[in-house]
Amino acid sequence: MLEDKNPHRTQLSELGEFKLIEHLTQNFSITQKSTIKGIGDDAAVLSFKNKQIVVTTDLLVEGVHFDLSYVPLKHLGYKAVIVNLSDVYAMNAIAKQITVSIAVSNRFPVEALEELYAGIETAAKIYNIDVVGGDTTSSTSGLIISVTAIGEVEEGNEVLRSGAKPNDLLVVTGDVGGAYMGLQVLEREKEVFKVNPNNQPDLSMYAYIVERQLKPEARKDIVELLEKLEVKPTSMIDISDGLSSEIIHLCKQSNVGVALYENKIPLDPQVISTCEEFDIDSTTIALNGGEDYELLMTISQEDHPKIKGNPNLTVIGYITDENNGMYLVTRAEQKIPIIAKGWNALTS
Ligand code: ADP
Ligand code: MG
Repeated sequence: MLEDKNPHRTQLSELGEFKLIEHLTQNFSITQKSTIKGIGDDAAVLSFKNKQIVVTTDLLVEGVHFDLSYVPLKHLGYKAVIVNLSDVYAMNAIAKQITVSIAVSNRFPVEALEELYAGIETAAKIYNIDVVGGDTTSSTSGLIISVTAIGEVEEGNEVLRSGAKPNDLLVVTGDVGGAYMGLQVLEREKEVFKVNPNNQPDLSMYAYIVERQLKPEARKDIVELLEKLEVKPTSMIDISDGLSSEIIHLCKQSNVGVALYENKIPLDPQVISTCEEFDIDSTTIALNGGEDYELLMTISQEDHPKIKGNPNLTVIGYITDENNGMYLVTRAEQKIPIIAKGWNALTS
């Protein structure tokens, strides 16, 4: 589906490991005060004074987490950074540095890695983070990328999954289900392309959901918004596996129950229309589709006036006593237990 727009191929062996690292990282500059030494020594040196540090890592494996037949490498580099930043923001922290490790087979020319790094560089610029290190090695099969992100948060401002209390409001940012439906569209086009390679797909009517899949964003803006509104959530998690699975994580770790209202779940019109086209129930997609990288949080009732009417924050339910269990209240006012069917790389 994706044409090779750059026919020039430089074999990795032509550069060798050290030249390759130098080549790929030459554009990275240091912008953060907390970065004392970045790429180029045995280890990076960081200084956070009296701030607390959060650290998180994600590993992306070709064939398991991404399919290069429809994911452009630039987008992949971008997304590999975003999924990590999202975890930092879910702690109510601000990301400052990342390290990037890659294992590549010789099927990838230098130009392909340049694309990957262009995506990493774009994300680093937009989210204001320094790339301070990594590792580079060969792989016998596909491409593996591991990103580690480091962030800072004032002592006491970190938000864990375990702080939700009965009567707290359950709040979600943005809208959900888009990334999953974008993937459905891309998978369908891939099948069409296999049959007719001359058929370049027109994805314009799916632009929003395809972008949600290929170029997700992390909600740094929400961490900044919460600070401005002077709201500290009682618990928070990012939505990587699907709303229901993340709700269950919050409830189990906080020892509480939940009532989630089907009619409150925010859906983009493109998610609704694409679900109709694919004949899938949009609530099922909202609950179980992954990779939206929105934030799910609980806030105390007292803070409700501060968030009321904010277009970024939607109240979708409330926290109950653990004995009440975890329920979806449907449009028909039926109570259905919430179960985790989220996207899971280990079972799919
Ligand atoms: P070492 O032998 O100590 O592991 P390397 O030669 O692997 O050192 O790395 C040299 C420098 O380049 C280090 O600062 C390392 O963090 C950085 N680096 C290596 N690979 C990458 C990469 N893929 N992306 C960013 N930085 C990298
Ligand atoms: Mg190394």
